[in-house]
Amino acid sequence: MIGVDRQRSGTRIDPWVLEYDSYDPAEEPLREALCTVGNGRFATRGAAPECPADDGDHYPGTYMAGIYNRLSDEISGRTIENESLVNLPNWLPVTFRPQDGEWFSIDQVDILFFRQALEFDRGILVREVRFRDRAGRETSLSQRRLVHMSRPSLAALETTIRPENWSGLLTFRSTVDANVRNRNVRRYRDLSDQHLDVLGVAGADDVCSLRVRTNQSRIEIVAGARHRLWLDGAEVIADCGPVEGEGLVGVELAVEMGIGSELRVEKVASIRTSKDQAISEPGESVVEDLSRAPDFSDLEEEHVSAWLGLWSRFRVDIDADLEVCQATNFHIFHLLQVASPNVLEVDAGIPARGLHGEAYRGHIFWDELFVFPVLHARSPEVARSLLRYRHRRLPAARRAAAAAGFEGAMFPWQSGSDGREETQVMHLNPRSGRWHADLSHRQRHLNIAIGYNVIQYLRFTWDIDFLAEHGAELLIELCRFWASIADYDRIADRYDIVGVMGPDEFHDSDPNWEGPGLRNNAYTNVMTSWLLAAVPETLEPLPHRQRDHLFEGLGLDHRELARWEEISRKLKVPFHDGDIISQFEGYADLEELDWESYQRRYESIERLDRILEAEGDSVNRFKASKQADVLMLFYLLSFEELTDTFGRLGVRFDEEILAKNIDYYLSRTSHGSTLSRLVHSWVLARSDRRKSMDLFREVLRSDLDDIQGGTTQEGIHLGAMAGTLDLLQRGYSGMEARADGALTFKPSLDPALGRLDFSIYYNRRWIEVSMEDDCVRLTSEVTTRPPVRVACRGEEAVLASGETKEFRRTG
Ligand code: BGC
Repeated sequence: MIGVDRQRSGTRIDPWVLEYDSYDPAEEPLREALCTVGNGRFATRGAAPECPADDGDHYPGTYMAGIYNRLSDEISGRTIENESLVNLPNWLPVTFRPQDGEWFSIDQVDILFFRQALEFDRGILVREVRFRDRAGRETSLSQRRLVHMSRPSLAALETTIRPENWSGLLTFRSTVDANVRNRNVRRYRDLSDQHLDVLGVAGADDVCSLRVRTNQSRIEIVAGARHRLWLDGAEVIADCGPVEGEGLVGVELAVEMGIGSELRVEKVASIRTSKDQAISEPGESVVEDLSRAPDFSDLEEEHVSAWLGLWSRFRVDIDADLEVCQATNFHIFHLLQVASPNVLEVDAGIPARGLHGEAYRGHIFWDELFVFPVLHARSPEVARSLLRYRHRRLPAARRAAAAAGFEGAMFPWQSGSDGREETQVMHLNPRSGRWHADLSHRQRHLNIAIGYNVIQYLRFTWDIDFLAEHGAELLIELCRFWASIADYDRIADRYDIVGVMGPDEFHDSDPNWEGPGLRNNAYTNVMTSWLLAAVPETLEPLPHRQRDHLFEGLGLDHRELARWEEISRKLKVPFHDGDIISQFEGYADLEELDWESYQRRYESIERLDRILEAEGDSVNRFKASKQADVLMLFYLLSFEELTDTFGRLGVRFDEEILAKNIDYYLSRTSHGSTLSRLVHSWVLARSDRRKSMDLFREVLRSDLDDIQGGTTQEGIHLGAMAGTLDLLQRGYSGMEARADGALTFKPSLDPALGRLDFSIYYNRRWIEVSMEDDCVRLTSEVTTRPPVRVACRGEEAVLASGETKEFRRTG
């Protein structure tokens, strides 16, 4: 798959490199997000090191998993609180000037050559510039940057400068800067943004550092840097002066340069916090890190080898065009910069927008539903650690359920540090300039996603220890919540779930019903039925003694299990127009939207909610969805599971109903969320391969082309990114880790993908999966574990250690 042989807009496409051959200030915010480098513990945007944050083109941001801070503001007479992932001190700043010249800034020079390249396979960001300053001096500059994958507190920036037509004294300046705020998202800029108090700066020998503290969560952070210089290959001790200013620390180094001589400066940075494990004090650890860190080339070698290890697990090989291969690798790369082994033992979840920007304030949503399947099958230890983010917040979720009058645990729609509801109470419609109540916390379906994630994890890993220690408790408390929110309607002999929202955020209430939220969102009800049936089955493998102990501790008895069973059979599933599953009860009475007229009048209608509100109307009145809602069912459950679940509910379901519903909702969806095209691509994988591929390609371009027109600069869309990998691994292969303990396949590979090769970790062994022309080949690594049951299109086999099994389509 590695190779370079195609042109796109004049630029060669390398499947392992994202490359830019010109500098465009207007595109910087987007490139900064796309060129973020990170290691799961922290990440730094791909900003030009010499440019400080301004409210325009430059925004260097560094974010660390789990480092949040809460600020409050007055809006329309109300005090509102927002918790944000904190923009940490900027470790990047590096610039230089010739004697009597100006400090280098990419915006102030004539650019003679420019290249910026993000290397996915190696996790390195490169920038090469040749420029002419106002005095006609020409200089070449080359920079390489990494955030270290196996030394999670370290980052490094190597800068090489060559005067091309001048000589003289060059001053190099490098700082660590705590004058940072959270100002990445324009919509939030009227709200408080100052999260850090500067406690002090320190400098000794070649290490300088500064100490800050978040002003509400009171986390201490120390960021420091070490500098070393080489002139024409020989290490030099330069004239060195400290730089100290308000919230700023660094060095200035002066070196005499000849024409064509080469100065190479290595800046190695360390960021430590008072939340780190196995440390005494963050400042001491920074000094320790920096004094022990090897030179850039050794750091790079270790870093690249860690990346190679990750790629050996996550790589997916397809014979598609280079654009598809590149975007796929790009997505996997960013996923690994958030969900890497460095999150193990860190109390971190999966922020919807990665560690790449400040949209949604770094909160954790249901989007992890689209990320976990990829981790379960490749890095179960990372998946397990991220699932524990939820388990640690079980007490908060229990309190939230009780406060709302329910049993069990009710996790919040948006989650941050301690598991309380972080969804903003008001949101701004940038189109109308008006603030409105934000009701999206009604998306209780997040509590299905968590259960689904735990069950899928267990089906892939057979990790009984996790089930016993954390999983079972989570699942039981989630079922309790759903059983208690479901209300029995005696007349209909059905259970209702009211006051909720489905995944489609355009509908937060029903204009024809006076109660809060929606009634009987089909996705919520059907998935609740699935969950209430799947959980008791999932608990079965628990050793008896552990099970009895757990049931006793949680007070779970057979009466309660019988109630779950009863509810799972009797939840209401509304229908209209014959076979159309109503998104919610009352959906049938909504008006049809005149899609053509809106398409004519607006450049993009993805955010119909904002358009209609600005027109003084409400999207709640229309049969128009932001994203898949009913169709999420077909995304999460295989056809067999759907048939079982609908069967259990006493509702007819077949291929024809499936197809009708896909058509119906696809034509009423604006794809206002990047998750939407992904889900639609998935549900079409079997019935309309071409359309599915078209949508797949669009999802692959979501961030690369910033198809939402400005959202990517505020952070990548991690759910859509991981989801595209999952679309290959599970969607097009039909791979399912079934409840009965078999690993099954049902390939539906579009010819445009050619072949599909990847490895998965299933039931504690690696299995290589290879697919071409609907033929599936499975090879197990040599293992002492017992054989596993596998199947393809109904044909069953047993795959033992070291064996290969091939399934060909017959007839
Ligand atoms: C989508 C949600 C998603 C959230 C965070 C919203 O635009 O509608 O489904 O959870 O973004 O990514």
